[in-house]
Amino acid sequence: PHVDSQAGAAVKAADRAHVFHSWSAQGLIDPLAVAGAEGSYFWDYEGNRYLDFASGLVFTNIGYQHPKVVAAIQEQAATLSTFAPAFAVEARSEAARLIAERTPGDLDKIFFTNGGAEAVENAVRMARLHTGRHKVLAAYRSYHGGTTTAINLTGDPRRWASDNGTSGTVHFWGPFLYRSPFYAETEAQECARALQHLEDTIAFEGPAAIAAIVLETIPGTAGIMTPPPGYLAGVREICDRYGIVFVLDEVMAGFGRTGKWFASEHFDVVPDLMTFAKGVNSGYVPLGGVAISAEIAETFDKRPYPGGLTYSGHPLACAAAVATLRVMEEEGVVENAARIGETVIAPGLRELAERHPSIGEIRGTGMFWALDLVKDRETREPLVPYNATGEANAPMAAFGAACKKNGLWPFINMNRTHVVPPCNVTEAEAKEGLAVLDTALSAADEHTTA
Ligand code: PLP
Repeated sequence: PHVDSQAGAAVKAADRAHVFHSWSAQGLIDPLAVAGAEGSYFWDYEGNRYLDFASGLVFTNIGYQHPKVVAAIQEQAATLSTFAPAFAVEARSEAARLIAERTPGDLDKIFFTNGGAEAVENAVRMARLHTGRHKVLAAYRSYHGGTTTAINLTGDPRRWASDNGTSGTVHFWGPFLYRSPFYAETEAQECARALQHLEDTIAFEGPAAIAAIVLETIPGTAGIMTPPPGYLAGVREICDRYGIVFVLDEVMAGFGRTGKWFASEHFDVVPDLMTFAKGVNSGYVPLGGVAISAEIAETFDKRPYPGGLTYSGHPLACAAAVATLRVMEEEGVVENAARIGETVIAPGLRELAERHPSIGEIRGTGMFWALDLVKDRETREPLVPYNATGEANAPMAAFGAACKKNGLWPFINMNRTHVVPPCNVTEAEAKEGLAVLDTALSAADEHTTA
């Protein structure tokens, strides 16, 4: 990469003066000035290049600057760069058709949004109107977005500041054997007890008051906890029994991330509503949406759907989605995620776990992996306390700094690092990233007590 410290300093100065950043104490952050990106890499103005093992925020499923997608956006901009949502527009029609072809079951109608949170907002609104009920159940250890309903569904500390108790959301524990809320010792026990716990929650909340259960198919930011066999099928059955709408949030897990088009395919379940965003067009232009079942779509056949967005199905975003889905098909990106996951990432991480005492558990599939870092493998005490900041978070900060120093941009959440590179990552890139993790984990090992 080209070095231009002066340009970098100007970008940084204007950022610090005028950009108000998400989720941050504005005076305590130091954002890296990025000069460019291509494929699985990005670089700064100082000549440092990083292998992006975070895929941005887990959205660049085809990497940066794919020439075919860039060309499709340019072409759409030249042809029809924008248009109001009430019209039938080629890019929008085609994107909806290609998405509906891939979504499971009869989820064949697509409501477009600008991102994941708006998709969740609208899925909940649809479920409430369809059922005439208000309460919505969601899991602890989840993330569903930053807008009011989505953040209130979220089961992590990001909700706390926005939760005033009026959102109609109720939280329950999903299955997670490694840190079992149910004292389970096997996947089968975890599954049965988690389903019983959900049944009990529903019984005590009042089944006739519950509009929807919203779950990430495989919870992402909260730790990539693949549900045990039978869990999601069990939730489906519970929803059917009580007339509750089943919403699967595939914003992070969808579009190839898990080595399938949608994570729901691993479990053979079909929700009533499915939310998506991120990988649908690799985030090249903001886009999200809700895939809607025939039954729920019918509710709004004669009765207007009371929701909308100026940029619903924006032509530039939809053209990017059409091009992205074609590229993924032509280049076998979903198959690549499954293959590299199974043949390079999984064995590579297992090998790291043998040598690094800070690795408590590795879990995942495709290009969707988490390393649960611990102080002590026996007790499974997390390497840093839940929601740690400052000095208490120093071990994870040291791990992150070691990754970056060695040219790897990691995804870090609490005591975990996630291995979530682009789904079209090459074998050589995956190995390069694993080698840096090997070095950086030694920094984490220093904080183990065993
Ligand atoms: N749902 C899930 C599962 C997510 O991972 C995210 C973002 O990380 C969202 C919803 C929110 O999406 P957005 O940030 O595009 O609003």
